Amino acid sequence: MVNIVKNLVPENKYGIKCPNMMNPSRIVIHNTANDASARNEISYMINNDSETSFHYAVDDKEIVQGVLENRNAWHAGDGNGKGNREGIAIEICYSKSGGDRFTKAEENAAELVASILKRYGWGIDKVTKHQDYSGKYCPHRTLDMGWDRFLKMVESKLGNNNNESVREEKEVDVYYKVRTQKHGWLPEVRNLEDYAGFENSPVTDIAIRVSRGTVKYRVHVKGKSWLPYVTGYNINDITSGYAGDGKPIDAVEVYYYTPSDIKPYKKAKYKVNDYPYQYDNEIANGQDGYAGVFGVNVVKFQIIIE
Ligand SMILES: [Zn+2]
Repeated sequence: MVNIVKNLVPENKYGIKCPNMMNPSRIVIHNTANDASARNEISYMINNDSETSFHYAVDDKEIVQGVLENRNAWHAGDGNGKGNREGIAIEICYSKSGGDRFTKAEENAAELVASILKRYGWGIDKVTKHQDYSGKYCPHRTLDMGWDRFLKMVESKLGNNNNESVREEKEVDVYYKVRTQKHGWLPEVRNLEDYAGFENSPVTDIAIRVSRGTVKYRVHVKGKSWLPYVTGYNINDITSGYAGDGKPIDAVEVYYYTPSDIKPYKKAKYKVNDYPYQYDNEIANGQDGYAGVFGVNVVKFQIIIE
């Protein structure tokens, strides 16, 4: 799948753009009916003062996310109906002129849809179109070219994704989330399916758990010192449920302890920002240390156990 770039609606605009918490139950497909790139589509959405909003815009090169999946967006024209209040909205770019850029954008969107279906454990019946909610002829070019054709494309990507997931299935899954200064706690990430954090938003706290074995982790507060190690995973437990004290951090250290029935021993492989991976396991030949550079805000965090 092409990269997902995050450019999120700032919290001070939540009231206009995404006022409600959301438990998504479906995907709603749109076409932009213009020729803007995904980045421009999202920054225009963020910067104007109309309520119109959507979660993702997809073009021929990348996917840009503007709203978190746990907040609603205004895109389906059904007021407080299920489209607006339970739908993850995806805008496919370049639909005005069509052509190769649009064809590629649609294919990238089909991959994004497939990955979302897989993440939530949904079937193809969860893929809906704007037209289902308000009667508007949207996604216009996708409809012109054939809605069933688009669904088939999603299904074929689902097949591909399933193969990938079999190949990438891990003996140990790691789940993690970060809190940022601007956006609070962000959704949980599993393994390397995404990274935790946003560009330009300092991370202040991190929580990590594993499906098997245990982890011990700590963070270094920028300009200060290491905080104590923690082993829990509970954002309501300030003593051991996460590492951090609400101030920007610049380094992270993680140890993974493999249960005795897994051989060979595994390591935590983790990184912050775009620095190289760090490995730690507190056993011989482990490359001991931490991820991060003192004095530089952590804005992204990723970890896998392998
Ligand atoms: Zn639409």
